[in-house]
Amino acid sequence: MSARERIIPVFIPHVGCPHNCVFCNQRKISGQLTPAGTDTVIQAVEDAKKMLPEGSKPQLAFYGGSFTAIPSDEQISLLSAAHKYVETGFLDSIRLSTRPDAIGPETLERLHSFGVKTVELGAQSLDREVLLRSGRGHTAEDVINAAALVKEYGFRLIIQIMTGLPGDTPEKDIRTAEEVCRIAPYGVRIYPTVIIRDTALYELWKAGKYEEHTVNDAVEICSRIVPLFENNGIEIIRLGLNPTDELSSGEAVGGAYHPALGELVKSRVMYYRMRELISTADVGRSIVISGPARKLSQMTGQHRDNLKRLKKEFSLNSIRISPSEDDELHIASELRIID
Ligand code: SF4
Repeated sequence: MSARERIIPVFIPHVGCPHNCVFCNQRKISGQLTPAGTDTVIQAVEDAKKMLPEGSKPQLAFYGGSFTAIPSDEQISLLSAAHKYVETGFLDSIRLSTRPDAIGPETLERLHSFGVKTVELGAQSLDREVLLRSGRGHTAEDVINAAALVKEYGFRLIIQIMTGLPGDTPEKDIRTAEEVCRIAPYGVRIYPTVIIRDTALYELWKAGKYEEHTVNDAVEICSRIVPLFENNGIEIIRLGLNPTDELSSGEAVGGAYHPALGELVKSRVMYYRMRELISTADVGRSIVISGPARKLSQMTGQHRDNLKRLKKEFSLNSIRISPSEDDELHIASELRIID
C-alpha cells in the first residue's frame, strides 16, 4: 500500500466465519462489538468526507470477518452501499479481507462488478499441522488455489500470515514465507501471534498446552522473513496487530503484542546486516558504520542495543554510526587524529 493510499475501515467482526480460529477474537482486535450494516458504511464514508482533504480518493475496506463467506444478499447490500461512493468518485475502490476457502469465480465476478480492487486472503500459515491446530478449517492448497484465482481475475492480492501459531516452529514460519513469495502477492500483512483473552488459544496457554510466542521470538523470526519479502519486491503492509484500547488495557494477555513491533523488527534486520558487514570486513577494533540517514535509529537500536551487542560480540573498542550519502551500509576503521 503506497504511503498516499487512505483506508476507511468498516469492521464486520467474525461475520461469515464458519470456524472459530483459536487465536481470534475480532471484537477485541477491532475494538468493535457489533457488525457493520449499510448505515455503518454510509456513516463511515460521510465522516471521512468531512475529515479527508479534497481529492483524497480513499478506499473503503471491509475488515475483521470473512466477507465472501457471508450470505450473498448481505454482501450485495454492503457492497452496494459502498459502491455508490465509487460511482460518485469519492471512493477510489473497495477492498476486503476473507478466507481462502470462500473464493470462487462467481464471488470474484460479484466483487468486480461492485468496484472491489483488492482482496486480502487470511492464509496465516501454509503448514498443514499449524492450520489444523489453529482451527482454520482450510488447507494450504485452498490458499494457493484462491490466490491464483484472485490474481487471475485481476485483483490486487494481499496475503496475511501469522508466526508462532500452535504447532509452529521458526522453520515452518520461514517455509510459509518462502511459499508466499512463490505466490507473489502484491503485499503481505504479518501478524505474530498474540494471546487474547476469551479465545481458545488463551485456554490452551493457561492449560500449558501452548507456549507463548514472545515479542523477542516474533522479532527474531520476523527479522528473517522480512528480508525474504523485501528481496522479492513484496510490500509489507503491516507488521503486528494494530494497538487498540481493549488490547492495550489487558485483553492481550501474552504473546507478541508491542505497539512498535515493526520498528523492533527493522532494527533487528539492521543488526544482522551490520553483523554480516563487520564479520566480512578487514577493519580494526574501532569502527564506523554509515547508512541511510532515515535508518540511523534502526541501526542504533532501542537503548543502543544493536551497538552494545555488536561491540561485545566482536570485542570492539568503539562503534559509531554515521549518515551515508546513498542507501547502502558502509564500514570503515575509525580514524583517530593524534597530535
Ligand atoms: S481469523 Fe478470520 S476466519 Fe478466523 S475467526 Fe477470525 S476473522 Fe474469522
